[in-house]
Amino acid sequence: MTIFEFKNLFKKELSKRYSESELSFIYSVFIKKILGINPLSNIHYQLSINEKTQISNLISELKIGKPYQQILGETEFYGMRFFVDENVLIPRPETEELVEFAINELRDSSYELRGLSCEVRDSKIQRFDFAQGDKSLKQEANISTCHSERSRRISVTGKKQEAKSQKPTILDIGTGSGIIAIVLKKYFPDFEVSAMDISENALKIARKNAELHNVEINFFCQDFLNSELNEKYDVIISNPPYIGIDETSEISDSVKDFEPNIALFSPTSDPLIFYRKIAKDAENFLNKNGMIFLEINQKAGQKTLELFKNFKEKHLLKDLSGNDRFIFAVL
Ligand code: GLN
Repeated sequence: MTIFEFKNLFKKELSKRYSESELSFIYSVFIKKILGINPLSNIHYQLSINEKTQISNLISELKIGKPYQQILGETEFYGMRFFVDENVLIPRPETEELVEFAINELRDSSYELRGLSCEVRDSKIQRFDFAQGDKSLKQEANISTCHSERSRRISVTGKKQEAKSQKPTILDIGTGSGIIAIVLKKYFPDFEVSAMDISENALKIARKNAELHNVEINFFCQDFLNSELNEKYDVIISNPPYIGIDETSEISDSVKDFEPNIALFSPTSDPLIFYRKIAKDAENFLNKNGMIFLEINQKAGQKTLELFKNFKEKHLLKDLSGNDRFIFAVL
């Protein structure tokens, strides 16, 4: 079988489940991964028996709805490569928007967080491109780097503090594959970033991702809803499970069958349970001027916003599709 014949078979077998453009994308990702060649310049390439077996296994997995990112074992988020498996949510574009918003907000206001002296320098980050492989430099981004040399003037208590304790601290609640925490640490290397998850298996992937990106994150396993935080933070960020039990029928089988339900569905009949606890915890565990960045259920925008009524600033923000999707609040 030539690669050309294989392409036709691939499309025929999978056209019920995927659109034409999805199929072209998935095909080109896997052909490069399995055969290590550019399919366009090798249309007469003859597949070996081993390659044919790999490809027919791939078709079977895709046919039952397994996300291609899980088959591949990796995905892209915010231009970076991340490992994924069945224990973590596959990153969604909305979460990229959350991270983008947090980066911009933190860049503008990190002076106010603990009297930090912050300098922005140009740097390059590799934007991962599946079609090109991880060597391509698709896009350059500015990375804001906050110097460890800080103003000693301001601290939460008004007392002088050691430089170490003056580092702004971030907590990512329900980190999953660690994407949010890792991207933030990459952009703000002098911030102390912690990330918790209830799932030890998810944290395994998160640690692997932190290693891949060479960042130090304090990962810990904790059941957020049934425990207390141990310290105060300057920033709390989270994309908690926010799908209500009554919305189950709206979620595709592929998501329900292959992604961890614990990361998607609220564990109780109250879909706002995580947001209620985050808003309440902020009274004791968020420093003055501390910030909260949250991804939310688009149907509960106003209700979620109300939970933050005691914050001096609170905003309900829309995603690119025009849905209420994020809360940004300052204590
Ligand atoms: N946005 C995700 C989805 O619709 C849900 C993410 C979440 O529950 N935090 O699949």
